[in-house]
Amino acid sequence: MTAHAQAPTSLFDLDAVPDEVRLTAARDGLVLTWGAEDPIPFAAEALRASCRCAWCTRQRADNRFPDAFPGIAITHLALVADYALNLHFSDGHARGIYPFSTFRARAAAPSAEQNP
Ligand SMILES: [Zn+2]
Repeated sequence: MTAHAQAPTSLFDLDAVPDEVRLTAARDGLVLTWGAEDPIPFAAEALRASCRCAWCTRQRADNRFPDAFPGIAITHLALVADYALNLHFSDGHARGIYPFSTFRARAAAPSAEQNP
């Protein structure tokens, strides 16, 4: 294995850090831009539904996690340690940490599917 081999994406992959993170005016999503690529939209509903925090993980395990979050908005976002975003949602949930590497992987995925 060489140091330059294509390794699996790390949570802390600096190449995944976007050049721009924009909250839509309606607060219904984020738009991330990497370099000269076209901006990639991420819907707030899909982001909320894919939250991997301990609370949401437990709710999924207990089958109490909602199937959808219609109309949910992003109320606040903050950079976390230069590798992720902490998103606050209009349902009051503010625990989710979303690594840029996860955004990057979803951006590379085919179609608009944003399931975890
Ligand atoms: Zn969560």
